[in-house]
Amino acid sequence: MFRTYWRIHRACPWCGYVFGVQEGEFTGAMMLAQFAWGLVALYGYFYLVFYADASQTVKLAWIVVAGLLFPLVSYRHIKGLWVGIVRAGEALFDEPAN
Ligand SMILES: [Zn+2]
Repeated sequence: MFRTYWRIHRACPWCGYVFGVQEGEFTGAMMLAQFAWGLVALYGYFYLVFYADASQTVKLAWIVVAGLLFPLVSYRHIKGLWVGIVRAGEALFDEPAN
């Protein structure tokens, strides 16, 4: 799906499905990324507060570093997941072949 780490192909090299046809189609991917980061941050916060034996500075540094790295590491996965969700939604409304 990806040509480089950040850029996707215009269409799938195997099946020809064209990515991002509609304007703003990847807005959903951003919402999905925020939701995923919210889950990770919530669990991370509770872990740091209740289980981690570290100073407040170290905990804050972990949160800041994780907040910067998470979007970079998860970018491809979340965009790919979103394309799958959009494609599955389109498949629901595809006309069956006669
Ligand atoms: Zn494909």
